[in-house]
Amino acid sequence: MFRLFNTLTRKVEDFKPLNPPKVGMYTCGPTVYDFAHIGNLRTYLFEDLLQRTLEADGFQVKRVMNITDIEDKIIKKAKEKGVEIKEITEPFTEAFWEDLNKLNIKPADVYPKATEHIGQMIKYIEALIKNGLAYMEKDGSVYFDISKFPEYGKLSQLDKREIKVGARVAVDEYEKENAQDFALWKSVGPDEVGYNSPWGKGRPGWHIECSVMSQEYLGETFDLHGGAVDLIFPHHENEIAQSEGKTGKKFVKFFVEGEHLLVNGQKMAKSLGNFFTLRDIEQEGFDPMALRYLVLTAHYRDKLNFTWESLEAASNALNNLREEVRSWDQPKIGCAEYEQRFMEAVDNDLNVPQALAVMWELVRSDYPTSAKAESLLKFDKILGLKLDEYLGKPLEVPEKVQKLVEEREKARSRKDFKKSDELRDQIKKLGYEVEDTSQGPKVRKT
Ligand SMILES: [Zn+2]
Repeated sequence: MFRLFNTLTRKVEDFKPLNPPKVGMYTCGPTVYDFAHIGNLRTYLFEDLLQRTLEADGFQVKRVMNITDIEDKIIKKAKEKGVEIKEITEPFTEAFWEDLNKLNIKPADVYPKATEHIGQMIKYIEALIKNGLAYMEKDGSVYFDISKFPEYGKLSQLDKREIKVGARVAVDEYEKENAQDFALWKSVGPDEVGYNSPWGKGRPGWHIECSVMSQEYLGETFDLHGGAVDLIFPHHENEIAQSEGKTGKKFVKFFVEGEHLLVNGQKMAKSLGNFFTLRDIEQEGFDPMALRYLVLTAHYRDKLNFTWESLEAASNALNNLREEVRSWDQPKIGCAEYEQRFMEAVDNDLNVPQALAVMWELVRSDYPTSAKAESLLKFDKILGLKLDEYLGKPLEVPEKVQKLVEEREKARSRKDFKKSDELRDQIKKLGYEVEDTSQGPKVRKT
């Protein structure tokens, strides 16, 4: 039985979807005005692990992730550069998909774009006004009235915060500590980017798009809603208010939010110079999959501290694993005991670090490599490290490196260790490493 922490109850609960084996899963996607940073990518990696675990447990996941392609930050950037919105959003949407692909994150089934659902958003807001939960201001902006939705605050346990009744917030960057009426529709001037509506020219608020697009593709009530912890309030809280305010039905069974990634123990910020994208990681010579491995080493509800040293350690561990499985036999009957322990770990609120430890225990065990291979490939359906690309595939050493290795063997046999060390350095410069074993030299990639 898969068990998962539910932010709605603050408890780890049995995961029972509405219509098993089907699972509807919505995750808040990127605002495409810049490259995703590694903190965003950690969230998408955690959601990928969640989806893969559900699938390993026999569920059929329908995954929806929105693309926010109209929002204050996008409009500001387009204005600064003097270009159309699309000239910002299209290349960064492409870059986002590239990042997911490099990290072996499974694509969602649907990527709805905000700009393609404006009509549905207007109808949704009309329904909220009809239900007495929203009101229009003189300027043509429409706000959600939180005082009319008694359950407001149930996700973020808002009774512990200050509620500013009657206060309003119109921008997409919200104050974190105060609850206020929030914009569903923001009126704009005649020369600004906007759409025609019953309330005049304007554009939708950020929260409304997630209510509209999740329900459009997953129904009024669905199983799982994911994101990062900073979305609990106000974003997910506001989604609940809008959705349950409109339908009178429960919006989502499980809210699940992943913790932040820190850099050198600090929150990432452009001003601190600790703001990294996947491109920065590649520029430092790392395989993007090293970041995936690093994310596997921390539980999704714990903060993960990124340092270049921790990335290096993850990269080495991944490399060791890849090199280890190259000499393995083809998969045959697996190791049931390890497979059971692995699934117990991931089924227990996605305890991937523990599952990773079980995997390493198996790799180092005395089981035949054919059995280890069978189980490892099963594990990798969840871990997503693409180990099938290495398993049973001996390294193809370039001729140049092979010649140096042979030369070094000759030097060693005549006990010329100075020459042998020099040749080892040369081999290293080409990206390979020689290990002297009882069966002769073993070459691996570094
Ligand atoms: Zn959202």
